[in-house]
Amino acid sequence: MLRPKKSLGQNFLIDENIARKIVAALEITPSDAVLEIGPGRGVLTKYLVESAGKLLAVEIDRALVAQLSERFGEAENFRLLNEDVLKLDLTSVLNSRHRWKVIGNVPYHITSQIFFKLFEHREKISTAVFMIQREVADRMAAAPNCKDYGILAVFCQFYAEVEKLFHVSRHVFAPKPDVTSAVIRLKMRQHLPIAGTELKIFTEIVKRGFGQRRKMLRNSLQKTTDLSVDWDKIDFNFERRPEQLRVEEFVALAQQIAQKQIRS
Ligand code: SAM
Repeated sequence: MLRPKKSLGQNFLIDENIARKIVAALEITPSDAVLEIGPGRGVLTKYLVESAGKLLAVEIDRALVAQLSERFGEAENFRLLNEDVLKLDLTSVLNSRHRWKVIGNVPYHITSQIFFKLFEHREKISTAVFMIQREVADRMAAAPNCKDYGILAVFCQFYAEVEKLFHVSRHVFAPKPDVTSAVIRLKMRQHLPIAGTELKIFTEIVKRGFGQRRKMLRNSLQKTTDLSVDWDKIDFNFERRPEQLRVEEFVALAQQIAQKQIRS
């Protein structure tokens, strides 16, 4: 067997029950098209290929690709790409009419980058199930007024409905990672409440706000942004701190700021 490559985050799942549980969380029907990121030794792939109408797997490691194609290459519904998912042109890959389901036990060091890439293509994706580091799952699913609530929670919950499903012990991997994992499910929102300038302002105020999370928004927003705004005309209590605001409140604030921008 090939030696796992630490640089590619290769901690392989070795528990079949958990593999089945992760695949079940994607709720696959025979007409579904599924994208698997980082199939590795194929522990999820074998259940996916049995249940999906179409399975596209993307694996960066050429040696694993050779093994996977030997094992699953005969299946008519299976396609395998030897690519870096972060460089992959998802617009051309997710090009069919239906919306895709996405799954993966992804390397911990590229988790957020993968999510943000998927958010960009959310109109082609319905659901995503990922096994990730537990702490990251906690931060994605966090509610306001708790320490884990921050930029990641606000953006993930803006783009998707986030559900943390279950924890996975480090002992069911080979080699064992240093951390506990968790499985999360994202149901992509097809209609966002804001776009264009409002979305840009939303992004800026969330980042600025949490950049100084202990401070009142009066300090982190009014004094530091490049936004030229008539702040007095905005109906909002700027003594609040970012961790107290629900996603909808950030959205509403962004909408007001967009309306009260001073145009030069
Ligand atoms: N899904 C397998 C499992 O559950 O055992 C493998 C999980 S392992 C944590 C992560 C997998 O992602 C490895 O097979 C690794 O080679 C692959 N990988 C790492 N970086 C990648 C990238 N940028 N694009 C595609 N695959 C990647």
